[in-house]
Amino acid sequence: MPAPPPAILRVALPVPLPREFDYLPPPGATVAPEWLGCRVRVPFGRGGADLVGLVVGVGEAEGDPAALKAAHERLDEVPLLHGELFDSLRWVAGYYHAPLGEVIATALPALLRAGQPLPDTRRHGWAATPAGQASATQPGREGRPRRLLLSLCEGARDEDELDASEPGWRAAARALAARGLAQRQAMDAEASPRPASAPVPTPGQAAAIEALRTGDGFRPTLLEGVTGSGKTEVYLQAIADCLAAGRQALVLVPEIGLTPQTLARFRARLGVPVAAFHSGLADGERARAWADMASGRARVLVGTRSAVFCPLPEAGLLVVDEEHDGSYKQQDGVRYHARDLALVRGSKLGVPVLLGSATPSLESLHNALSGRYRHLRLTERAGGARPPAVRVLDVRKRPLHDGLSEALLEAVDACLARGEQALVFKNRRGYAPVLICHDCGWSAHCSRCDAAMTVHAGGRRLICHHCGARATPPNACPDCASLALQPQGAGTERLEQALAARFPEACLVRVDRETTRRRDALEKLLARLGDGPGILVGTQILAKGHDLPRLTLVAVVGVDEGLFSADFRAGEKLAQLLIQVAGRAGRARLPGEVVLQTHHPDHPLLGTLLNGGYPAVAALQLAEREAAAFPPYAHLALLRAEAGTEAEVQGFLKEAHAAFEAREGVRANGPMPAPMARRAGKARGQLLVDASLRVALHAALREWLPALRALRSARRVRWSLDVDPTDL
Ligand code: ADP
Ligand code: ZN
Ligand code: ZN
Repeated sequence: MPAPPPAILRVALPVPLPREFDYLPPPGATVAPEWLGCRVRVPFGRGGADLVGLVVGVGEAEGDPAALKAAHERLDEVPLLHGELFDSLRWVAGYYHAPLGEVIATALPALLRAGQPLPDTRRHGWAATPAGQASATQPGREGRPRRLLLSLCEGARDEDELDASEPGWRAAARALAARGLAQRQAMDAEASPRPASAPVPTPGQAAAIEALRTGDGFRPTLLEGVTGSGKTEVYLQAIADCLAAGRQALVLVPEIGLTPQTLARFRARLGVPVAAFHSGLADGERARAWADMASGRARVLVGTRSAVFCPLPEAGLLVVDEEHDGSYKQQDGVRYHARDLALVRGSKLGVPVLLGSATPSLESLHNALSGRYRHLRLTERAGGARPPAVRVLDVRKRPLHDGLSEALLEAVDACLARGEQALVFKNRRGYAPVLICHDCGWSAHCSRCDAAMTVHAGGRRLICHHCGARATPPNACPDCASLALQPQGAGTERLEQALAARFPEACLVRVDRETTRRRDALEKLLARLGDGPGILVGTQILAKGHDLPRLTLVAVVGVDEGLFSADFRAGEKLAQLLIQVAGRAGRARLPGEVVLQTHHPDHPLLGTLLNGGYPAVAALQLAEREAAAFPPYAHLALLRAEAGTEAEVQGFLKEAHAAFEAREGVRANGPMPAPMARRAGKARGQLLVDASLRVALHAALREWLPALRALRSARRVRWSLDVDPTDL
């Protein structure tokens, strides 16, 4: 009887190929089921460069095992990815039609992806030995070692805490250890601070908290609560219940700028180790947070999009704050949606998922209204705050000073005079959106994109916001040689300048992508503003969840661009943005006011928003989506392609369309130009697949993708498939 073929490892690797790879075990090792979920380092490709992959199967070789290479080494003693998390990653690969190896690479913190060991999450500290205890009672030489010994005799001390409070302690500790007087040891989890007390819940909060206590197992809930209604308090209570049951909680938040405030609030209230996970952390900190959740040392993780991939061995609750936020959707690589993945994980884990927003996405709202999600509402602001009064400023035929109307400036003036703070909102950074020739109409365009260059630095620089190209503005018009070149319109930089000139005494802070590039920059800016009278001018970064008790006026400048966009989601996005930014006003005891400066006071979206609020806009938009068969009443996938020439893009998209097998209820539409047909020097196009049923869409995509990969024309383009695209 021939000997059975040797067992092999089936490895998922971070390469853009939809398959797994077989390897022999490292020399001398034998394959066993315990290898599943462990990382291995393997040679890959002709050059033989090493890759780190995950063992996703063990079995018999299909072909000639002698043709297989051996893995270099096994990197984990115990599986890194297993159980629910591994199943969920398989779901991501299937749903987004992405290679499993790339999904795994997306899910792992960078250090783990690179093959580093899982960080040791035990804390270490120092304690006095019995010899040390005895020695401390005798007279001894004064100095650092002695002082440290005396303090250790009162109890072991944590290294992190020593680092913070006793500079130079390490040398002293080494000296004590050399004499056998002190030793290093693993510490128990840090003692938890006593949690701060919670406010008495409002009746709405109490009802929501009570509802969340009923029933267990997977249950999605949409908490729709107006801005300032105290949704965070409801999350905190639900998390406290989850912790009391001995379980872990995951909280997703949209923005890094938002995390410090949120994190401080969670830490103060929960009294357990709360880990943070966002792009502002160093690689080591992220790996440590991941490991802390995996080991169960951390009980709560608060993080941005990619935190949805953290291990939750003792999961009890998943919360997605501001669930409508666009940042939950990854826009390159594996294009997952963190909210949707949180729901999938919740269902696999059998735990509740709480989605919260003042302006829910139409997808979630549709699920709530149709009874698939439980729908809880908070209709009143907490703590006695009232909703802001909204005033529309019709600026047709009125003079504007650098984009600001006199009425708006007067409102700011009055606000400052009351000693309060004003927010001037414009969703456009830079000095002006375009530089035009007043004589012939020429405007400065990016040479590599279908887009105008934005004027920066008060007119001294042109920057393309799409590809980053920079240029010096010409002195004269390149077309007609006129010197009448003028920045047209106003961005945050120009508004800041105009407001500074008008209110020279006021504290003025600009918040946009430029001023908040560095970590903690937003916190510092808000600290500079403090509690005194002042003006914040900025982009949508300011629309997100900051609590500024002295802020009573929100002045919205230029919503008009958003009223006339081709994107079918534009209305939803604009309404969300307006409500969120307006929601910054009057969150505490002082009453708030919102002024909205527009050239289109009669636009139906504004009217609906003013009269019926977000629910009315949402109802209207849902009806329109249903009539037009758009999501959530249909399901979309977008094939994007870019290449050096328009012909290559068109060639590929046409062949792709031809390779698409029409089936009942599923259509491929296009090729159509991308919203920006040229970007960074590349021609771009797309093809939209729509389906009335999700299963039909996925069946069609599964069949289509191998055909796409086989197309000759595919080699000349960069293409990607986006399931549930949010940017069409
Ligand atoms: P949301 O997340 O819905 O915008 P928050 O939870 O941030 O609202 O609450 C808004 C403000 O109201 C915060 O300053 C919060 O401390 C306060 N607040 C929340 N709930 C209560 C309550 N029950 N009593 C008093 N103040 C509250
Ligand atoms: Zn000109
Ligand atoms: Zn450009």
